[in-house]
Amino acid sequence: MLGGYRFRLYPDREQERILLRWIGCQRLIYNAKVQEDRYYRKFQRRLVALVGMPVPLDQEYSRFITERTAFLREVPSQVLRNGAALWRQAYARFFAGLGGRPKYQTKAGRQAVWLTSELFEFVPKTDPRTGVVRYRLRIGTTRFPVGEVSYRAHRPHGIPASIHICVEGGQWFVSFAAEDPAVPGGKPENAAERIAEDLRHLSEGQLLERTLGADRGVAKPLMTSDGRVLDLSAVQKERIGKARRRRKTWQRRAARRGKGSRNQKKAYRRAGRYARYEANVRQDYAHKTSHALVVDDRYDLYAFEDLRIGNMTRKPKARQDENGRWLPNGARAKAGLNRAILASAWGQVVSFTRYKALRAGKLVVTVPPAHSSQECAACGHTHPDNRPSQAEFVCHACGHRDNADHHASVVIARRGARKLLSGEPLAPEGKSVKMFRKLGPERSEVTPGEIAEDAGGRRLPARRSASQETPGGDPGNPRLKPHGLGGGRVHRSWSWHRC
Ligand SMILES: [Zn+2]
Repeated sequence: MLGGYRFRLYPDREQERILLRWIGCQRLIYNAKVQEDRYYRKFQRRLVALVGMPVPLDQEYSRFITERTAFLREVPSQVLRNGAALWRQAYARFFAGLGGRPKYQTKAGRQAVWLTSELFEFVPKTDPRTGVVRYRLRIGTTRFPVGEVSYRAHRPHGIPASIHICVEGGQWFVSFAAEDPAVPGGKPENAAERIAEDLRHLSEGQLLERTLGADRGVAKPLMTSDGRVLDLSAVQKERIGKARRRRKTWQRRAARRGKGSRNQKKAYRRAGRYARYEANVRQDYAHKTSHALVVDDRYDLYAFEDLRIGNMTRKPKARQDENGRWLPNGARAKAGLNRAILASAWGQVVSFTRYKALRAGKLVVTVPPAHSSQECAACGHTHPDNRPSQAEFVCHACGHRDNADHHASVVIARRGARKLLSGEPLAPEGKSVKMFRKLGPERSEVTPGEIAEDAGGRRLPARRSASQETPGGDPGNPRLKPHGLGGGRVHRSWSWHRC
């Protein structure tokens, strides 16, 4: 099974310098593609004759290398090509409805470079005493070597086809997807299906004994059906509180400092450090919690609610009265709740438990959360009256009593066991876009708003730039606006082309 890996990377000063250059050059190509694309689409809107002309969607980048961008020749061409490929992949996602159009990448914040297999090598080295294979990561080509960069692999991994190297807050990371030696063979869905098949041999009662339900709440982040509460420690909470206050202070200081100044940047860096501290503590909590759940050998199946965290943390709609005056809509209170939901690391705990469970030959299912707090775990009677108070559950049909949070986790466990036995698909099909390794120009794709129709209602054939040059202006420098706008020079580089 493919697993995701992210390890700390420790480049030395010189290696850092080279990698930062690679990052910058890849970003430059990506941004040049974004700008070129915007430019083409602007033309479509301005010139009637060009309406409906699809924008070229290719991976070419050589036109961006000129005397003024000669520094691009000092990095491997694959780094540049990957920048163009990333842009095209982002566009493919946009066409599939999975995201917005590619945007400019900024210099601020996390920076990354995508390296394909020509640019790195994991050199295996077997320990003669223990026989354990460890890898050394060699980056670069013969012409542009970076050398061996040390990284800390905290668990065994396979060899990936490509890696991302990123730097955030002065810390370097290498991340990739590779074969997980702990779960051999196939897709994660196949591994999950095999485990599910084994568990389906059990009766409902037997399976229920091996199932752990977990209810996620705001006051108590995680409550399990065996009565455990998994929460951040008091010390962690206190430190997070402190980090939040300091972050706010530094954000305020940054806001008062000169815009774009060195001192403002420093202040933002400090603010970012406190934000990262909190994120790290949450992640640590999610890892430790998911580990604690998975190593418990009493359980083979873990049931969570299928919470749409994105929907749940949406801002409330603005409200207006009939005179157009704005009314209070509870935005502040909701913002507080959203913060609590996101801060409780609900999503992380589930996704971490999911992959760790697969490694241990166990399974995670998610169940619909509707009415889990009103359903009786003993008789199945579902009614709002079953919840006389926030903390208590009392069944009106059979008199079953329980603590409300614990009760909900028992209901979730039962739903999870039933879902597994019913044989319905365990996870909804994920949305993804197929990425092709094929290089060079291909069929132009047209967004719905850009489809041109002629008078007869037929779709016009796709058109594409023949010369692949930026029309007008300096063809090499994407920062220069072409100065042929509407001057007729554009037409030269466009030609009819049937795909
Ligand atoms: Zn009941």
